[in-house]
Amino acid sequence: MEMDSPRSGAGLTRHSATLERLLLVTALLGAALACAAEAPQRVVAIVPLGAVKQEYLDRVAREIQARLEVQVRIEPRRELPAGAFYTPRKRWRAEKLLEAIDASPPAGAWKVVAVTEAEISTTKGDIFDWGVAGLGSIGGPSCVVSTHIYKKHSKTREALLRRLGDLAIHELGHTLGFDHCETKACVMADAKGKAITSADASSGQYCAQCLERLLPEDRALIKPHP
Ligand SMILES: [Zn+2]
Ligand SMILES: [Zn+2]
Repeated sequence: MEMDSPRSGAGLTRHSATLERLLLVTALLGAALACAAEAPQRVVAIVPLGAVKQEYLDRVAREIQARLEVQVRIEPRRELPAGAFYTPRKRWRAEKLLEAIDASPPAGAWKVVAVTEAEISTTKGDIFDWGVAGLGSIGGPSCVVSTHIYKKHSKTREALLRRLGDLAIHELGHTLGFDHCETKACVMADAKGKAITSADASSGQYCAQCLERLLPEDRALIKPHP
């Protein structure tokens, strides 16, 4: 008995190890099949900077989801980084907001869209501190949109939300690699200092010329116009 039991014990161990391997192989195969059936979606993370109304975040999420085949995820709120505050004008430097986000991006994010109600600015040509509605780095990982200008100049909540949604698509477009576009009504048109007029002339869509510039794998993410 005593001589026998270690052997059968070892036999059992070998058997269960084989079984474990088999189960692992089956699990891996299952995962591979699931991947083939449904490629993992890229994640666009929405990061609220400071207190941001939920309806603004929801609208930005909805507009991105309507145009891109991606997973949109609303992240926990982050504080506006103190180092981005521009004391002479009491507003926030947009490029510094992006630097702070790029330094600690949300896990797994392909692109980040920061949303804030704070007033933001950046350098434009010779003007060191120029108020902007949004900023996106061309081909970069992140962009930021602010409700500040639209809140001041929109007569209705719906107008504000529509402009904010288009702005998010515009800034996200910069991160996709788009520069400003001359095509009439393209969402990538330059605001040329007129945030409201330009927002209202926009179709909200990337035009065909813009889309041609995308890498094929990125173009595949763009949903057809509704
Ligand atoms: Zn732009
Ligand atoms: Zn265009």
